[in-house]
Amino acid sequence: MQGGAPVTTAAPLSFSEPGRDCSLCPRLETFRRDNRRALPDGFNAPVPAFGSLDAELLIVGLAPGLHGANRTGRPFTGDWAGDMLYPALLRHGFAQGDYCERADDGLRLRKCRISNAVRCVPPQNKPTPGEIAACRSFLANEIAAMPNLRALLCLGRVAHDSVVRLFGAKAKAFPFAHGAKHRLESHRLESRGLALYDCYHCSRYNTNTGVLTQEMFDAVFARIVADFS
Ligand code: SF4
Repeated sequence: MQGGAPVTTAAPLSFSEPGRDCSLCPRLETFRRDNRRALPDGFNAPVPAFGSLDAELLIVGLAPGLHGANRTGRPFTGDWAGDMLYPALLRHGFAQGDYCERADDGLRLRKCRISNAVRCVPPQNKPTPGEIAACRSFLANEIAAMPNLRALLCLGRVAHDSVVRLFGAKAKAFPFAHGAKHRLESHRLESRGLALYDCYHCSRYNTNTGVLTQEMFDAVFARIVADFS
């Protein structure tokens, strides 16, 4: 998005998260049932997005982590990725409070909402193309229900490609690249011009291997802050 122009404000559309027993992805439904037995204290359901629909920035991750969001019930909460993401949000003014790795830690997001391309935890963190496509309808409805949305920050290629497809574009026309900024438009979403920022996923693997450093992560958020101001 070259100018980061705000989307025309409209009355928010209704948006419903999937039910706790969403059965659109049979493999994930089976995994959920298994996890409810193996990890009875966990959330073990589609993890709802965190933050207000009035937000200007929507962060889109891959999917809940088994011992993170799937356990706590809040995106990126309780595992390594959250330990990277939430402090970054606090440093750049997109969150207020203290991040304590629990859904009830009182942390509040500012102008920001966090969601996932896939809302149920997948085995080995690897959703199938069919599962990504099935859950895209929830992401599409969520985006359509955000009247003040200006930009999406996609953490990783899966989130990026799902968002690009959601806007009716071909992934080849908008290749994922860390640090890239794309402009998206969609007649399906009332011709809203939105910015799409790409960032490597803040996973333990990416940070341990140096694929993503805190400096690189901060640079992405600093750019968004500058574009919003
Ligand atoms: S991943 Fe999404 S579409 Fe698939 S079962 Fe979970 S909530 Fe439903």
